Parts: sequence; C-alpha cells; structure tokens
Amino acid sequence: MSADKPALSILLCSPRGFCAGVVRAIDAVEQALKIYGPPVYVRHEIVHNKYVVENLKAKGAVFVEELDEVPATQAPVIFSAHGVAKSVPAAAKVRNLFAIDATCPLVTKVHREAEIHFKRGRHIVLVGHRGHPEVIGTMGQLPDGTVTLIEAVGDVTTLAVPGEGGLAYVTQTTLSLDDTREIVEALKTRFPDIVGPHKEDICYATTNRQEAVKVVAPQVDAMIVVGSPNSSNSQRLREVAERAGCTPAVLIQRAADIDWSLFGAISALGIAAGASAPEVLVEEIIDAFAARYAITVETVSTADESVFFPLPRDLREAALS
Ligand code: SF4
Repeated sequence: MSADKPALSILLCSPRGFCAGVVRAIDAVEQALKIYGPPVYVRHEIVHNKYVVENLKAKGAVFVEELDEVPATQAPVIFSAHGVAKSVPAAAKVRNLFAIDATCPLVTKVHREAEIHFKRGRHIVLVGHRGHPEVIGTMGQLPDGTVTLIEAVGDVTTLAVPGEGGLAYVTQTTLSLDDTREIVEALKTRFPDIVGPHKEDICYATTNRQEAVKVVAPQVDAMIVVGSPNSSNSQRLREVAERAGCTPAVLIQRAADIDWSLFGAISALGIAAGASAPEVLVEEIIDAFAARYAITVETVSTADESVFFPLPRDLREAALS
C-alpha cells in the first residue's frame, strides 16, 4: 500500500552497467558455447561479476584461474576482458590449446602503448592497483624490470627509475580520474620529459560512469553502486560518490545484500552500476526499494554511449562458416 510507505526519489545514473568490453567478453563465451558446445574454459572470471559468472557456468562454461587447470582438450579456452601476460597465450600454444582472447580492445591499446615505449628504449611507469589481473597482464607484456608499478601519489617521490633511455607512463583503464590526474601531475613535475598516452588510458566507460556519479551524488542522501567487490571500476564509483559528500555510499552485489539500517530516513537515493554489473541486478534493487518505499525513478544522463567492439576474430569467422 503505497500510502503507508515513505516517499523515495531514486536518481539512476546514466551511463551505468555494462560497457562495450564487457558485452564483447560475455558474448564471446556465449558464442563459443553455441558454436562449439560445452565445455568452454574461461581463464579467470570473464568479467568481475558473480551473477554473470554463475549464469555462464550454468550454460557450460568452466572457470579456471590458471591454464594448468585446463585438461588436454580441443575445447576453446577464453582469456578474460582484463587481459593476460604474454606468457599465457604462449603457454596455450605450447599445449596446443584453442585460445580465444576476449581482452578488451581498450586494455590491448595500453599493452601496445607499453610495447612501443619499450621498443623506443623507455622505462615504463604503470599506474594501477597491485594484484589486479589487468595490471598483471600489462606488466606481463614486457620483460621483468622494464615496468615499475606505482599506486598512489606518494609513490612518485620514492620512484627509482633507470637513469638513461627516457621514461613513459601508462595506466590501468579503471582508475579514479581524480587520483590519476594527481599522480600524473606529480610524475610530470618530477620527470618533465616523461611521455604519456595520446589519449588517456582510463577508458570511456570508467570516465562516463564516474562523471554520472559526480553529478548525482550531491543530490541524494545515499548512493548504491551495483557491482562486485573485486570490480575495480565499481569500487572507484563508490569512492567517487563518497568524495562528492554522499554517505552512505555502498557497493552492493544483489538486493539480498542491502543493509536496510543504512537507508531508514532517506528521501533521495542514487543508484549507479559498475561496468560489469548487469541491468537485471539494478532492477532487482529498485524492486526491493519499491517494496518498502513509494518510489519515483528518474534517470540522470550525463553522456551517450555508442561504443561497440566486434567479437574476437576466431568467433566471427566460425560464426560465418
Ligand atoms: S571497463 Fe573499459 S577497459 Fe574495462 S572492459 Fe569496459 S570498456 Fe574495456
């Protein structure tokens, strides 16, 4: 009975949810299942979302962390959207595995930039989060010792780099825009000749989702970011909301995870979703609020997105034959 429920205005951030790289990676697994049948092996979570992974598992995808968990097989082995070190396709080749690379083209762009800097004799500074699969993949494009990882502005002061040959930087694609700007400024101050990317490495999807959160966060009493705890871009959205003065700002995977004690007396709620979070989970969370509040939903759109990446070539060609 809506008359008994408190009013709640929900502002939906747009763009939100799936980016072109995530759509391509999920489509790659689904197409491979359709063309070759199960099992299809996937190295690492294809994208950082449990719901997506469980759905693909139910269709016959088998997720592994490393290639040595894959038996001798003719079945496809798909590399995730985050990208892999060069040693991974090399190991797949040695084992005669049928590898399909679903690395997002915008991650591949960073790999190629790093390679070009290396060929030009530059030492490379990678701005990113230690241990994230994308960072492991980018560092693994080049020999050990040629890429130095930094995570925060404080690391610039203590950064020790080889004295000759020039210096370049690249970044992870899913970082905080503001933090990265600060780190890059510090790098340029300390190393005025450092070479950077022509176009930022932080991708369009990360940029657009953070900008939308920046606009919505000051207008609401609380913000929910739909996404997984291991999703870097989702974690950054939560931080962006918090820095814009919106507390609580929480990262939630499913409606069942909502801690209702945080949302008691609010009258306006913002909802955003990381690049690997499906829209169905946003809807589930809106439905959960609709059960407790008399909601109105308004979309706040800060950018249009029309980016599309075609499937990996093997799958395109197999679909045509
Ligand atoms: S978040 Fe950006 S880099 Fe990552 S998969 Fe999506 S488009 Fe590609």
